Amino acid sequence: MNEDDGRKEKGADNQREAIPGVRSLHSPRAPRVSLPVEISEASLLTLLDVSPDALVMVDQAGRIELANSQVEALFGYPRSELAGKQLEVLMPERFHTAHVFHRERYAASPRTRPMGAGLELYGRHKDGTEVPVDISLSPLTLGGALHVLGAIRDITELRRLQERERAAREAAEARLALLQLILDELPASVYIVQGEEARLVLANRAAAAVWGATWDIGQPMLDFLATHHIRLFGTDGQPLPPAAFATFRAVHRGETVRHHQETIRRADGTTLPVLVNAVALGRRLLAGIPAEVGSQSSDPAEPVALVVHQDATALKEAERLKDEFIGIAAHELRTPLAVLKGFAQTLIVQSARGKGPELVEWQMEALQSIDQATTRLVELIEDLLDVTRLQAGRLALHLEPTDLVALVRRVVTRLQMTTELHTLSIFTPVEHLVAPVDPRRMEQVLSNLIGNAIKYSPEGGSVNVTIHEDEQAHEALLSVRDHGIGIPAQQHLLIFGRFARTDNARAYGIGGTGLGLYLCRELVERHGGRIWFESTEGQGSTFFVALPLVSYPDL
Ligand code: ADP
Repeated sequence: MNEDDGRKEKGADNQREAIPGVRSLHSPRAPRVSLPVEISEASLLTLLDVSPDALVMVDQAGRIELANSQVEALFGYPRSELAGKQLEVLMPERFHTAHVFHRERYAASPRTRPMGAGLELYGRHKDGTEVPVDISLSPLTLGGALHVLGAIRDITELRRLQERERAAREAAEARLALLQLILDELPASVYIVQGEEARLVLANRAAAAVWGATWDIGQPMLDFLATHHIRLFGTDGQPLPPAAFATFRAVHRGETVRHHQETIRRADGTTLPVLVNAVALGRRLLAGIPAEVGSQSSDPAEPVALVVHQDATALKEAERLKDEFIGIAAHELRTPLAVLKGFAQTLIVQSARGKGPELVEWQMEALQSIDQATTRLVELIEDLLDVTRLQAGRLALHLEPTDLVALVRRVVTRLQMTTELHTLSIFTPVEHLVAPVDPRRMEQVLSNLIGNAIKYSPEGGSVNVTIHEDEQAHEALLSVRDHGIGIPAQQHLLIFGRFARTDNARAYGIGGTGLGLYLCRELVERHGGRIWFESTEGQGSTFFVALPLVSYPDL
């Protein structure tokens, strides 16, 4: 047992590593204990035996005078064997020389203090094994002579726990370093935020490039944006309110946000279109991150979100070029198609009127096929033009009070004429239901939905259209139900996207562009309505549309 040297004596208590949960045996303020000389050795031993620690009393020369029963248990010597032995017998040999030196210094300046502050101390068992120990020393004056009382505690278990804690901490730090390394190599910006204010937990290198500034760990998002004069805009070019930021939607409402389009405007005025994905994480996932990195607050109830920003500049440019091309091609196709359609119809009408030579049956059929095919082509081109109009924000609605029941009847009658395999029926408790809609656009929506119901029921069957008023919500509710091929569950999220088609539609060889439902959703939402569906693959689908019966304020 080597005691601390003279240089360390001052404030030795402070230098010593605090060990949680261990009662301090040594207070620097503890008075030097002076016992009446007449106290017997036996009663002193009884006193020492009460202590849970091993206690030894040595004289100024370092000889053991007394040892309690815990010493016997800890070191394996009977007390009788220890009496009169040098204290060194209880310590590994490598400490002997230093101990003798420190004992002499201690005798010159005795006070209550820990032994070997800052060092790992070991005791030596009779059988030669070493035991990690914690020792504190107290001077004790007995009959005018100085003695030293040493309290020795076996800290094997404590060391094991400390070692385990250190290993766990190192493993967590290594995991975090690896995570940071991986994140830093990613081209997309990735960050994790915590709490209602979205305080930064960690961010990768690309995050600084996306923001054009470094977001400090622990800094709330709005504070960071304000400090660096960064603003966020939506697809309509308007500043986004914080509640609409993908990050806040994830931390405040636990939403999973996918492909949210935002534009970042940095302090230098440059802008960056980004696609943002944000997902709320369980607080548990941050458990491996050391607290000082994680946050100042370790409130386990705090929400946590992972946010990924993808630079969408190239994507946007590609989309713009694609839309531009689609727009030009569709425009150029429009005129020759109009000519084709016009002449096909003239031929049909004039022949029916008996003008010119009479057409035989196959000639008439060929003309009608040309007419139908051009009609389909015109529709397709109109769809393409609508997509480019929507993308450019140039699709205007002309709202007027429209009887939806009459509109539904018209579309159903027209489409019933295109099929003999299907039976189209309308179910409605009302004769009329008037809503402020663009009739041409609403007819387009209904034609698409009912047309799809027919197209995706290749075996035929019933197609039921319902329409009624939801008085409470002030909405018209329409539904179109078929018993066709249905939509595979894993593709439910996709089908309102541009050019989205399901695998089973392709497998059945049913043609289409994947634009119809995209246009339906855009048109319905621009009317302030909603569109959704329920579908089971192989059993059929039902599409629902809800439209406000009162004018939508933003239109
Ligand atoms: P398309 O021109 O391909 O019909 P839509 O946008 O109208 O384009 O529909 C997108 C995809 O959704 C279709 O390709 C089809 O896979 C699926 N779909 C739409 N309506 C139905 C339906 N009633 N039943 C089954 N699948 C459907």
